[in-house]
Order: sequence, then structure tokens, then C-alpha cells
Amino acid sequence: LVSVRKVYGSGDNAVTALAGVSLSLSAGTFTAVMGPSGSGKSTLLQCAAGLERPTEGQVFVDGTEMTGGGEKALTEFRRERIGFVFQQFNLLPTLTVLQNVTLPLKLAGRRVDRDRAVEILRRVGLGDRLERLPAELSGGQQQRVAIARALVTSPKVIFGDEPTGALDTRSAREVLALLRGAVHTYGQTVVMVTHDPVAAAHADSVLFLADGQIVGHLANPTAEAVAERLTHLADEVAAR
Ligand code: ATP
Ligand code: MG
Repeated sequence: LVSVRKVYGSGDNAVTALAGVSLSLSAGTFTAVMGPSGSGKSTLLQCAAGLERPTEGQVFVDGTEMTGGGEKALTEFRRERIGFVFQQFNLLPTLTVLQNVTLPLKLAGRRVDRDRAVEILRRVGLGDRLERLPAELSGGQQQRVAIARALVTSPKVIFGDEPTGALDTRSAREVLALLRGAVHTYGQTVVMVTHDPVAAAHADSVLFLADGQIVGHLANPTAEAVAERLTHLADEVAAR
């Protein structure tokens, strides 16, 4: 990201969600993003993932400027190279598990490779749920389908906006293990927003955001170190 600013609305209603963020993430790393509510974490992810267009600045993925072309180019770029996992799973309720996972291949204009989708669903432990509907699965299982859907196109980067936020501890751990595996076994790059210091400790490093700016960084985080930094951050924000 190069000098990314994002302003929602205009005139008196304008809200600056990102106040000029520059940031470079190495390929094959797992980064957690933390910060107070409203600090711009979701906006950062959406701009980085091509779901929102920055008001100013550029986004590069793998050396190519994603924000260089028009809307159609941005959508194509996103479908080819980016995966996104949401807090509330966002599966399509009328499609089966398998259909949900093959959908991104369809949207990207690729061959609908059923074998690949099945292989990935096995990897997330759901090889026996292919023909189920999302409503027939637990939250943890639904999020694993969402991860399979994000992985099916072999994206360079996978973004997760509080992907464990709606899950119990055990399901959260499974989801974090899958994200770690994407990084450490498959060499993908993962960026995850979380409020949970324990979840953040699964990442290689943590970025701290406040008021639309990056205000800190922690390498090789432990849950204790993350919690301590968050407390300091809250004090600093309160003191402004
Ligand atoms: P949370 O932890 O609560 O999810 P966040 O760090 O993800 O917060 P953002 O959702 O990125 O924060 O919001 C940053 C700022 O931008 C907030 O002031 C928010 O109200 C504003 N904002 C976010 N999305 C929009 C939108 N679509 N339209 C207008 N304002 C928005
Ligand atoms: Mg958010």
C-alpha cells in the first residue's frame, strides 16, 4: 500500500477512515491487524483486497498495481489473486458446500474444477459434507467452507476480517491452523484483523492501527505482549 487514504462520504459528513497508510507485507507471511473499534481495520483490508477503492494512493499486489485500471479490471484482479474471509462467513445459503467453493472459479472464468474443490474441502476437514447446505453446518464448519472458498483459486493473498470473531475457542483454533497452513505450507500471504490477542499470537507479526494510521508493530507476538500493547494503545488514544 502506498499512501492510501480512504474518505467515506463528502462535505460535512466526510469520515477519514484511512489517513495515508503506507505498508509493505512480505509474501509468505502472516500478519494480524489490531486496533480500537473504528480505527480503520476493515477499511484497510477492503482497500488492500480491492473491495473498496482508495480515495487516494495505490495498492500493489505481487508487483502489479491493482488500483491502476477501471472497475472491471479491479474486480478481475481481485478474483484472480485475492481471497477474503468474513466474520459472518457470507456463504450463499441456497448453494451446497461444494457449489459455494466452486463459485469463485466460475466468477473468475476458470474451469470449474470439481476435483480441486473436493481436495480443498478435504484439507479443511469437510470432505464428507459436500452436498450439505450452509444452514446444516455449525459456525466453525461454515467458516471452514468459507476458507475453502477463499483458497480454491490459489490466491496470492488471503484477507480475513475477524474470521474467528463469531467462533468458539476450538473452532477458532482450527481456522487459525488453516490460515497458518496457507502461509507456512503453501507460501500464501495472510492478513487477518482480530480483536483477540490469542488469535494475533498465531501471526508472524502484528500491526496496530489507531485513527486510520499505523501506530505500532510487533514481531513474533505472544498473547501477553499483544495484550500489553493494546492496553498502552487504548491509554494513548484516550489521552488525545
Ligand atoms: P471495528 O473494530 O468496529 O470493526 P474498524 O477498525 O474495522 O472497526 P472501519 O470499519 O474500517 O473500522 O471504520 C473506520 C471508520 O470509517 C469509522 O469511523 C466508520 O464509521 C467509518 N466507515 C466505515 N465504513 C463506512 C461506510 N461504508 N460509510 C461511511 N463510513 C464508514
Ligand atoms: Mg471492522
